[in-house]
Amino acid sequence: MTARVLIVDDIPTNVRLLEARLAAEYFEVTTASSGPQALDICATSDVDIILLDVMMPGMDGFEVCRRLKANHKTHHVPVLMITALDQPSDRVKGLEAGADDFLTKPVDDMQLMARVKSLVRLKSLTDELRARALTGQQIAIEEALRAMDNISASGGSILLIDSDTRHAERIKGYLAAEHKIDILTEPADAVFQVSGARYELALVSMSLGDFDPLRVCSQIRTLEHTRNLPIILIADEGDKPRVVRALDLGVNDFISRPVERNELMARVRTQIRRHRYAMELRESVNNTLALAVTDELTGLYNRRYFDRHLNVMLGKAQAQERDMALMILDIDHFKAVNDNYGHDIGDAVLREFSARLKRNVRGVDLACRFGGEEFVVLMPDTDVSNAEMVAERVRQAIAERPFEVGLGRPLSVTVSVGVSLNESAADTPETLIKRADVALYRAKREGRNRVVLDAA
Ligand code: GH3
Ligand code: MG
Ligand code: MG
Repeated sequence: MTARVLIVDDIPTNVRLLEARLAAEYFEVTTASSGPQALDICATSDVDIILLDVMMPGMDGFEVCRRLKANHKTHHVPVLMITALDQPSDRVKGLEAGADDFLTKPVDDMQLMARVKSLVRLKSLTDELRARALTGQQIAIEEALRAMDNISASGGSILLIDSDTRHAERIKGYLAAEHKIDILTEPADAVFQVSGARYELALVSMSLGDFDPLRVCSQIRTLEHTRNLPIILIADEGDKPRVVRALDLGVNDFISRPVERNELMARVRTQIRRHRYAMELRESVNNTLALAVTDELTGLYNRRYFDRHLNVMLGKAQAQERDMALMILDIDHFKAVNDNYGHDIGDAVLREFSARLKRNVRGVDLACRFGGEEFVVLMPDTDVSNAEMVAERVRQAIAERPFEVGLGRPLSVTVSVGVSLNESAADTPETLIKRADVALYRAKREGRNRVVLDAA
């Protein structure tokens, strides 16, 4: 694993020490000696993780962190705070400023590597999602990212796995004012319990009697459904090797006993916010992908999607010698609708037309907006008589009942349809479209509001 690490500290010896350790593990290291310089580097280059000293003259680490997290361009870059004091209040302040984690000086080598690696792993996941989103619709994603800056971290749904009932109740008491907590005292039921509900965080105690807490964590990580569920381990003092293994297994964070209330609250909030951020991002990637293949006005598939799909479907139909039909539909005298009633009424007609079209073809048929007032439907396993029947049904569905489009009176609309079928191995997407288009042209010439089959 390699990544670009930015080290920020006003004391050169500290910088050199961390730099040497990280460079030995093949991280690419950049350094800054003040807050403003660090912000500058983040604004002008790509950084994967920031190691940030808290105590610096001028702008301290908390402020640098707040600014990074407030900017949607750097919001997602993990910040690992380095504090000189082992002060719970300092840690809490750091987490409240949006820090993703912290280390105390003198920095322990094993801790440093475990933390850095775990944060880098998370970063590469969100990077991939962001990249995918960015290749889609730039605008939609930027809006989504801004909305995410305001994601709340309260009202979380948490599963606490701990076989010590008294201890579990105390932890629950710390969190109950802000979140909803279920306690599970039987670790063997953990997988069943997490897969049945929509938890946003699992708190796993390391005191589970004979049961191995790392097994619980790895089971949660293995299940498709819970793979992304954040896990915080409640660690026993002096069990560092197992904690490090847990972080390697993908556990997101840990907190040591005795559990300090404010630290627990802050860490829980951080994980819940991060989880909600990732879920939002995933959702908006899906929406973006949907946007890329959908026509915005009508909600039908767009031309780009149709072209790709036609290629695939024709290949299949030819390989298996199955029927396939294609129809092109063009609204009659549509220009007159725009000319007489305006573009908005024209748009409303296109929407109503699309809705009727969709209702009159099968689920397996692919209905697309070809462009303007032209539509196309691809119908697998459809022979000539069925194709004609469907085309005729659509034509009637348009003509039989005038459109209500906010004119104050109904508007009559008709459509002409050209149909073609795959006939030989020599057919290509272009020849199919061309033949349907020729048939459509004949329908127009012969008086419109009719279906014409390709004569070939
Ligand atoms: P024909 O019966 O021969 O098809 O006549 P037509 O008027 O339907 O055909 P023509 O191709 O001359 O005109 C199509 C019109 O569709 C022209 C264009 O302004 C309009 N149009 C294309 N896309 C849109 C759109 O998204 N919204 C609106 N309102 N009109 C559109
Ligand atoms: Mg037309
Ligand atoms: Mg036209």
